[in-house]
Amino acid sequence: MVAKRERRRRKDIAFQRIERLFELAEEAAKEARMREGREREEMERRSDRYVLLARKISMRHRVRIPRHLKMWICKRCNAFLIPGRNARVRLRRGEYITITCLRCGAEKRRPYKAPRPPSPRRQQSTERAGKAEKRRKEFNVL
Ligand SMILES: [Zn+2]
Repeated sequence: MVAKRERRRRKDIAFQRIERLFELAEEAAKEARMREGREREEMERRSDRYVLLARKISMRHRVRIPRHLKMWICKRCNAFLIPGRNARVRLRRGEYITITCLRCGAEKRRPYKAPRPPSPRRQQSTERAGKAEKRRKEFNVL
């Protein structure tokens, strides 16, 4: 059995490596954009490879991939997704967001809430807060 402290240390290292691999994946994806033909393919492959490695480390050490990164990787082909390039992003108003990988066609969905105007109750409370703020200033009380 691995001691708790040792496991934590391994997870810390795993997390650092995951972050680094995503930096590299992003760089390679950007680099691919500036190249053509075989060089571009090579760069894209490299980017996917970094994503794959990050995912493997994440699973091996049971470290979560941060949500903001996880959203932009394809579970099926490990592509690093860039909206407008190899990913299509669509909103189903008030329901979910769909991200489609344009390389393999895999879709992922995430629920989301459509932005709404603040409720009247909230407005009241902020008005009240405003008044309270003013009073505080008037009386110069913290
Ligand atoms: Zn894909």
